[in-house]
Amino acid sequence: MQRKRLLTGDRPTGRLHLGHYVGSIANRLKLQSQYDCFFLIADLHMLTTRPAKEDIEAISENARQMVLDYLSCGIDPQQSVIFLQSAVHETYELNLFFEMLVTVPRLQRLPSLKDMKDSANLAEMSFGLLGYPVLQSADILLPRAHIVPVGKDNEAHVELTREIARRFNNLYGEVFPLPDVLIGDVPTLVGTDGSAKMSKSLDNTIMLSDDEKTVTRRVMGMYTDPNRVRADIPGTVEGNPVFTYHDVFNPDKAEVEELKTRYRAGTVGDVEVKQKLAAAINAFLDPIRERRAVFEARGGFVDEVIYEGTLRMRDEARATLVEAKKAMGLTGVWNRISRKAEDARKKREKRDSLS
Ligand code: ATP
Ligand code: MG
Repeated sequence: MQRKRLLTGDRPTGRLHLGHYVGSIANRLKLQSQYDCFFLIADLHMLTTRPAKEDIEAISENARQMVLDYLSCGIDPQQSVIFLQSAVHETYELNLFFEMLVTVPRLQRLPSLKDMKDSANLAEMSFGLLGYPVLQSADILLPRAHIVPVGKDNEAHVELTREIARRFNNLYGEVFPLPDVLIGDVPTLVGTDGSAKMSKSLDNTIMLSDDEKTVTRRVMGMYTDPNRVRADIPGTVEGNPVFTYHDVFNPDKAEVEELKTRYRAGTVGDVEVKQKLAAAINAFLDPIRERRAVFEARGGFVDEVIYEGTLRMRDEARATLVEAKKAMGLTGVWNRISRKAEDARKKREKRDSLS
């Protein structure tokens, strides 16, 4: 029996951060030996907010850095397909078919698109950005994925993908599975500044590739309980990003509980809480850093991974597109016209040769 399939991806806007890890990478690692995995370097998605020539020029290096992050986290390129979206042309075709199966108001109601428009400082929504979740549906359904591990901000897009798949199957016949979303244990990781989401564009990140010093500096500068101007004032743990991170990244649960108790009682300073957090995050990142150094030293390896993965994805994509077009009857339209044209040409050539 064929194994079930998983697809997810990231925009190649730079290196990955802790938010990407807990929102999506952790689930990829958990599932990569159970599912056939497809990991998308979503450069076409990047174009929806960053279409400038410089942005496009930066894609190859950003993609390399991002894939280095994948490999450093433990994603195995022998098991999984890592591919470049823009080099799989069937994506563009399937996107166009899907555009007919969704209404403009349905897309306009998605709050994630407005967030993306705002965080990219765009005055107006482009047609392409409005279509972002449709393109995402094409990404997910091209390898006919059953499961999509993403952060909370992408949940509604997978729901839309199910609607599109259902509509396609109803109109044309069963081609696509209805994929399930899988949200990470931390659906949305807050930023170091305490704002809702860790995000590159907000400069509130800790990158997976940050060195020990940088991590410590970032943690020491983190937002905590603003009412706590002295260490002997009782502090609030709930919603305090320093404790959110402790819960996620510090495996020493007894230490975390003790720090929380002392923080509430006003018997521990922010500095100690943060030093212990920095140590925990650094311990979490150490093996990732070590693997990164190994892969970095193997010049060209990451490019090979992307190249091979893209070739494998192209085969998958071609097969799905053939089936989708057949189901739609589009293949038949061309076949009928070309058959008639060939017949007509043959007849004409015969006539011409007789006269
Ligand atoms: P950034 O804003 O830093 O560029 P992004 O959301 O634009 O990040 P994407 O490439 O769109 O990054 O998303 C990659 C994956 O990481 C998605 O599944 C997304 O839901 C997840 N993700 C990104 N940031 C977070 C976060 N702070 N917490 C949880 N998941 C996140
Ligand atoms: Mg991004």
